[in-house]
Amino acid sequence: MELERYRRQLAMPEIGPEGQRKLAASSVLVVGAGGLGGPLLYALAGAGVGRLRVVDGDTVSLSNLNRQFLFDQADLGRPKAEGAARRLSAFNRDITVEGAAAWLDQTNGAELVKDCQLAVAAVDNLSARLALNAACARQNIPLVNGGVEGWYGSVLAVEFGVTPCLACCYAGTAPEEGGQALGAVTGAVASLMASVTLQMLLGRNPIPGEILLYDGKRLELDRVPVERSPGCPICGTL
Ligand SMILES: [Zn+2]
Repeated sequence: MELERYRRQLAMPEIGPEGQRKLAASSVLVVGAGGLGGPLLYALAGAGVGRLRVVDGDTVSLSNLNRQFLFDQADLGRPKAEGAARRLSAFNRDITVEGAAAWLDQTNGAELVKDCQLAVAAVDNLSARLALNAACARQNIPLVNGGVEGWYGSVLAVEFGVTPCLACCYAGTAPEEGGQALGAVTGAVASLMASVTLQMLLGRNPIPGEILLYDGKRLELDRVPVERSPGCPICGTL
């Protein structure tokens, strides 16, 4: 590991050499390499998270390029997972990046999350979020979830059996997603997700039992308490 790369963050008391070793020893699954996943992955790769597994079944299209800065025009039509792995490996050769060109669902979630310390949902649909939530619950792997719509975004950090899970928060509802997206907003929410992820890898959940809400139009940040659901089919018995 080239320590000079991390000099500016090694100087931060919450990180230091011990924290840096912790990050280098960590494996993180990131589902979605789009508007949220791209800036988030850059932040994790730059910080020196040792192993990143990037899962995305999509290919790069022109309408992605207003916000998905892992890719450029030469990537059009190519799988996002492979492009992301290639770009991030070139960005930081200290780390290992695996790309899996697949849609995470109930059939493959367990296998994809296996051996990771933490998973991140950076997708644009509820079914993938809930499939990842269920897979993480079964293996007791903490989950950071983020979403955006237009100017607005949200972040939730799940520690199963301790904080509400995604099924507690979103059961029976299907918020519309994927319609509107601007790079300036997705980048801000991705940075919040990365900050939560890195702090959890270092041993502290900064938003336990709260949803972080970002308003990119009024430039406001809010924290709203959320409750566990006693009858939750995913975490109710944990
Ligand atoms: Zn739950």
